[in-house]
Amino acid sequence: MRRVEYEFWSSVVPVLDDDADVAFSRIAGKTGKTQSQVARNVLAIFRLGELPKVKALQDAGFILDMQALVAIDQVLAKLGKVEGDILEQIDNLLAAYLTPTKPNQVFPTVGKIRRRLRDICQALDPTIAFYNPQKKDAYRCTVSGSRAYIELDVEAAHGVVLHEIVAQVAKEHQVTLAEALVLLISGSVTPEAGKVVIYSYRASDVENGPTYVQGHGWMIGDIPAKRERHRDFSEAPKETAGYGPSEDVRKYVEGRDLTCRAPTCDQPAYLSQLDHRINYRDGGKTHPSNMVALCQHHHNMKTDGRAFYILDPDTGDVVWLFEDGTWLITEAEGPLAPKAKRWAQTVGQLITANRTKAHERAQALKEEFEQEAAKPSAKGGVDGGYGGKGCDEDIPF
Ligand SMILES: [Zn+2]
Repeated sequence: MRRVEYEFWSSVVPVLDDDADVAFSRIAGKTGKTQSQVARNVLAIFRLGELPKVKALQDAGFILDMQALVAIDQVLAKLGKVEGDILEQIDNLLAAYLTPTKPNQVFPTVGKIRRRLRDICQALDPTIAFYNPQKKDAYRCTVSGSRAYIELDVEAAHGVVLHEIVAQVAKEHQVTLAEALVLLISGSVTPEAGKVVIYSYRASDVENGPTYVQGHGWMIGDIPAKRERHRDFSEAPKETAGYGPSEDVRKYVEGRDLTCRAPTCDQPAYLSQLDHRINYRDGGKTHPSNMVALCQHHHNMKTDGRAFYILDPDTGDVVWLFEDGTWLITEAEGPLAPKAKRWAQTVGQLITANRTKAHERAQALKEEFEQEAAKPSAKGGVDGGYGGKGCDEDIPF
């Protein structure tokens, strides 16, 4: 299916100088798709051309369906103009993420690809994707029909804190996030900002390594906090004595698993349950080596005995065995999983390299200015450029 769709859309991509509107409407008429669906697919194929490594993967194995290709285009479209070397780094990191490393490995869902690509962009260039120091905070209220939309546009680090306050109120009063915000703004409840807990994960041994903020993804820099508590997760925490996991065990499993570990399930781990792989009553430990994040639905499936899994405690890989004898591997993708450790290291190195490069560029520019300023004013030289007489003495070759 993926191959047929990809080859079809590649074959109908109009030449760039065609009138796009006419071309899209002609293809729409023949395929029964809407004109905007056609435009999305065509733009996605064009975009793939900017990512040669990902394109090579796609051409060899047709790993991405059109939905995934459209998602990649949409995330990159939000970046505006990207420097050539940054685009190359995005291509490398995305291709590495999409390359399967194990047999029967479950391919990431569109949601996961979209999130990872956003993480890559934000980690590589926070100025375009995440934080723009020139950007002013904005508040908007738009009314459309019978609905009103209230939007707040602030720096990510502040937004995360504000969101956690809303989430805290929602949890405390057992209401939805939307209801919690209404309660807060109308003054019906008072936020207890001091109580807001934000969980983040960061490799302490990686220079310029990104931070994973639970519920928000990877970002650069620190989250502002009144009080910070650190826990060392370089080793799994101690076993909990009872059935219910300690906070450390829970946070460790969430940090390893990221989502429910059933194939193609996207439910975040922090909203999932922790399953004892070997039942507690059968002697299974309340420890990360025996616990896996499963959403309610997949937890039921496992409890009913309709699916069975094995956990590799070292890598966090989960192998699912089904009744018909087939099996699938899902890799752990949380910040504590080996895969994410390698990714944090790569991103850290790239950030260090990019900063060094930016510093060198600024330094070179500064020296150029200083040399220019120190020059005795020689009008002929300036106007005549390198060919002008005034410049001859300055060029050593
Ligand atoms: Zn699930």
